This record gives sequence, structure tokens and C-alpha cells, in this order.
Amino acid sequence: MKFTLPLLLVACSDAFTVPTLPSTAHSRSVPLYSLKADASSGPQTGIKRKYLKKVAKTVAAGSMVIPQAAFAAATKTEPTLHTGQKIAKAVSNALPCLPQTGVLALISAMPVVELRGAIPVGLWMGLPLSTVFPLAIVGNMAPIIPMLLLLKSEPVQKLFAPLLTRAESKAGSIINAPADKQWAALALFVGIPLPGTGAWTGALAAFVLGMPLLTSLTAIFAGVVSAGVIMSAITLSGKKGGIAALAALFGYAGTKILGGSKKQDFLEATPYYDQSTVPVNTYKNKSPFTGKVVSTKRIVGPKATGETCHIIIGHEGKMPYWEGQSYGVIPPGNREKDGKPHSVRLYSIASSRYGDDMTGNTASLCVRRATYWCPELKADDPAKAGICSNFLCDTSPGDEVKMTGPSGKVMLMPEEDPKTDLIMVATGTGIAPYRGFIRRLFEEDTPARAAYSGEAWLFLGVANSDALLYDDEWQSAIAKPTVNGGKLRLDYALSREATNKKGGKMYIQDKVEEYADEVFTKLDTGAHIYFCGLKGMMPGIQDMLKEVCTNKGIDYDEWLAGLKKNKQWHVEVY
Ligand SMILES: Cc1cc2nc3c(=O)[nH]c(=O)nc-3n(C[C@H](O)[C@H](O)[C@H](O)COP(=O)(O)OP(=O)(O)OC[C@H]3O[C@@H](n4cnc5c(N)ncnc54)[C@H](O)[C@@H]3O)c2cc1C
Repeated sequence: MKFTLPLLLVACSDAFTVPTLPSTAHSRSVPLYSLKADASSGPQTGIKRKYLKKVAKTVAAGSMVIPQAAFAAATKTEPTLHTGQKIAKAVSNALPCLPQTGVLALISAMPVVELRGAIPVGLWMGLPLSTVFPLAIVGNMAPIIPMLLLLKSEPVQKLFAPLLTRAESKAGSIINAPADKQWAALALFVGIPLPGTGAWTGALAAFVLGMPLLTSLTAIFAGVVSAGVIMSAITLSGKKGGIAALAALFGYAGTKILGGSKKQDFLEATPYYDQSTVPVNTYKNKSPFTGKVVSTKRIVGPKATGETCHIIIGHEGKMPYWEGQSYGVIPPGNREKDGKPHSVRLYSIASSRYGDDMTGNTASLCVRRATYWCPELKADDPAKAGICSNFLCDTSPGDEVKMTGPSGKVMLMPEEDPKTDLIMVATGTGIAPYRGFIRRLFEEDTPARAAYSGEAWLFLGVANSDALLYDDEWQSAIAKPTVNGGKLRLDYALSREATNKKGGKMYIQDKVEEYADEVFTKLDTGAHIYFCGLKGMMPGIQDMLKEVCTNKGIDYDEWLAGLKKNKQWHVEVY
């Protein structure tokens, strides 16, 4: 059997392989009506039920996995049947009263398969393109309209929650597109028949984004027609044409849809370490930028003390920032005490300037939900919960966030000398700026990473293992030293799980103290030290450093003044 292109486009991630369109005479050798006649005979009833069950299950799951085993069993006696015909047969067997055109429309309506699967199937069925094309379009669009309407109801949203999350992760190109380009981004997403795209996912993404019904429908329709043209061309042009079209599609999608150039070099200064053009206060309180939430995820385990969320916000490339800067967020609503609008709260940006999707269109925040434990109630008092952190942690994709900034230069990385060691000390969400540093130095293809040859040493203090933040990312970065030998080193202080040398709780200053000599030596040789997180950590840190200085016969105040003068001492605590 010849297995090749057309439906591989549709379903290369699924167990679904399809032959190229064989010679016309051959493809028409098993007409559908003869398959139907077979289907009506008694022994097929079990298979029929099996097909129906599987098709229904698959459609409900939103993940079309053609029941190959069932097809294989069904075709044992008909070895010349091609997979396209087997699909037609499966549907036909399940619904024997359905005419050929109905079978085709039904296939086109299925998630994942959609029109991109239906067109080759229709042509293999021997139907003319003039019938297949409009039918496939109608079939593909048919479920989209009710789906968009039904998604307005909350129970349906709950039912579709996993699919909405999946759509959100697949549809970054739409979510991150500037508002005026979202129609085109959605049409492109649906219109280029790649695995993971299509009308179903496009519709879910449009809903997640809160796009108006008519806008969504017209964009999806344009995309469906475009996918139809592409699939017809690929199916009719045979193997060579198919390969050429596939290569062109992947090339195009690679640059236009999947995020453009792989190199993270398009948001750099000249030279890249020149900090004279760092953007500051592009948006002020009186005219904030309205960003859109791309995703909000809890990132701590069930036994963490409190909740911390990673929130990705789209800024359309209009609010660029550097690693170590903060955004201000103005929560919606007014203050209870005087009815005035809520004031701005600062949040350190937790992504590199390229954002988590590396397009330069998003920023991430790492936010701890501020709660108030009422000693009288012996419970959290929601009336006294933090306004902005709760607003942010409760956001959903598509929600608007008013932002100011970017602000701050104190936490920028010293990139001029790529040998510079960094010592990054964080408690809790104080990790945020360092995530930006580490992505820039170890994960992204940046000029800073290409040059870096120092040691970036991260100390993170949290209550317990469940409260650790981004541990998988640190492990990944540790495994990726730079070409010049730059590397990440990691130490955790888990206050409720480990003890310090005096038998007390292991706080961040205790962990740093374990390496006091090394830290001192590094600072003496030009390392930069950063502190970010709860301001309560600073007295402990400073007491510890003072004690070490005293033991070494060094004047602490002088030593600290020297570090500050050399801009080696960076503090952002709150
Ligand atoms: C430079 C900088 C960077 C920052 N970066 C981050 C970051 O990356 N991540 C992060 O999570 N935070 C960060 N913060 C802290 C952040 O700005 C907010 O202060 C924090 O989120 C709390 O704001 P909120 O609006 O939720 O709480 P607010 O509404 O401002 O309340 C503050 C606190 O008071 C309590 N409270 C409210 N009402 C009462 C009452 N009647 N009686 C007693 N207590 C009450 C609340 O529960 C809360 O704990 C940063 C701060 C600064 C200055």
C-alpha cells in the first residue's frame, strides 16, 4: 500500500496514514454503494457498532484517531481498499442510510479530520471536485456555528475546558497577533492545513480570545476555503506536487505562523549590552497599555504555602522591556475607602524580553496571591484579600490588564563583560527577574548566551518542595552550559524541610552563609549579587554578611559601599 502525503498533513500526530490518490480508475474500483451493500449483511453488525462507538468517542474527545485496527479487520477481505475509502466505509457502515455526499460532509465535520481529510476522501470516493469542494466546506463549517454559540454557556465551557486549554496552547499565533491582525491570523491558522490547526481549534481559540462571532466566523470560513484549495491541489497533484506543496507550506508556516526566525536577536541594542536605550515608563498611570492575558497557570504543588501563578500577557510588541524590569498593573475597580480607582502595583517581569513564546509580543509575571488570615475567624478573610494579586491570579485568557512601565534599571544584567559571575538570591516570587536572566543566558539563542562564560548562581528560598518555582526550567538550563562554558548553579533553601547549621529553619541567608567564602571571593573578583523578593530577607542577609566580614577582619560598611559603587549590588525587595 502507498502511504504518503495528503492526510499526513492532517494527522501526522495521530495514528492515521493515508495513501496518495491512486490512478482514477483504481480509486473508483470499489464504489461506495458496494461498500454499503456489504454493510447491510448480518455479520457486519458488530463491526458497525464498533465503528459507530469509536467515531462518536473520537469526536467527543476532540481528538480524531481513526480506528485503524477496525479498518484493518474490515479490510482483511478487501486488500485493495485504500484508507480514504476505509474511512468512507466506516462512516457508511455506521450510518447506512446516509448518501455518499452525506458521508463526505460528516467526515468534513469531524474534528482533526475536517475538510483537509474530507477532500482527499471525497476524491478517492470518485466524486467530482465540483461536488467535493463545496460539500467539504459546508461540512467543515456546520459544527463551528453551533459550537461558538454553545460555548457561551458555562456548563459547555466546563465540558470543553481541556479542549480550550489545548486550543490556547496551539493557537499562540492568533493569541499573540496584534488586535487588528487577529482576523488574518485566525484565517491563516485555519487555512494552512498543518497538524494541530483547523476550524475546530481555530473556533476554540477565537472563543478564548473573545473575538466577536461574526469576525470569528468570517475568518474561519476564509481559512476553510483556503485549506480546501490547498488540499485539492495537493491531492490532485500527486506525490511530487504534494511534496513540493508540503515543503512550501512548512517553510511558510515556519516563518509566518510558528514564530519567525529562531534566533532571539531582533530585540537587541547595538552592541547588545548597551543599556542606554533601555525603555522606561513607555506607559504611565494616566495612559496605561491594555494587554490581554494569554494564559494563567498555578505553578505550585498542593502542599505549597499559598498560591503562585505564572501569567502570560500579550502586549503586541508595543511594550518592550529588558530582563530585570517590572511592569505596573492597575487592577480594575475602585477603592472602597474613597471610591478612587485602585493604584498601580509593581510586578517583576518573569520572562526574557522575547517572552515565553519568543516572539517579543508577551511578558510573563509570577504572582503570589495575597490572602489575609484572620486570627478571629481562624480562616482567610476574602474581604481583606490583596486586590491586584487576586485579580491577576483569577484572570482567564483574553482578559484585559491595564499596565504601566516598564520600570526600573536596578536589576538589569551586566552584559558588557560576559565573564561576569551572577549571584541571584530570591525568596518566592523574587525569582521572577532571574527567570528572565536564565532564559536569556541558557535557553534562547541570544548574543548574550553566545558570549556568556561566567557562572550564574541561583539561590531560591521557599517553604517546601511544593512551593518551588520553575524547577524543571532550572534543571533544563543546568544541562545547557553555553559554548563558552557559562553555566547555571542552583541551591535551594526549603525553610520547612531543611535545617540550618544551628538546627533552626533553613532560610535563604543560611543557605548563602554555607558558601560565604566562595560568595565573598566571587564578589571580590567582580561578581554581581542580586536580591529579590520579600524585604524581610534583607536584615538576615546583611547580618550574615556582616558577621562573615567581621570574621575576615573586613569593615562591612566599607565593603558594601565598594560593591554599591561598582554597581555590583542589586536589591529589589517588597
Ligand atoms: C518592585 C516590585 C516588584 C514586585 N514584584 C512582584 C512579583 O514579581 N510578584 C508578586 O507577587 N508581587 C510582587 N510585588 C508585590 C506587588 O506589587 C503587590 O504588592 C502584591 O501583589 C500585593 O498587592 P495586592 O494588590 O494583591 O494587595 P493589596 O490589596 O495591596 O493588599 C496588601 C496586603 O494587605 C492585606 N490587606 C488588605 N486589606 C487589609 C486589611 N483591612 N487589614 C489587614 N490587611 C489587609 C492584603 O491581604 C495584602 O496582603 C512587587 C513589588 C515591588 C515593589
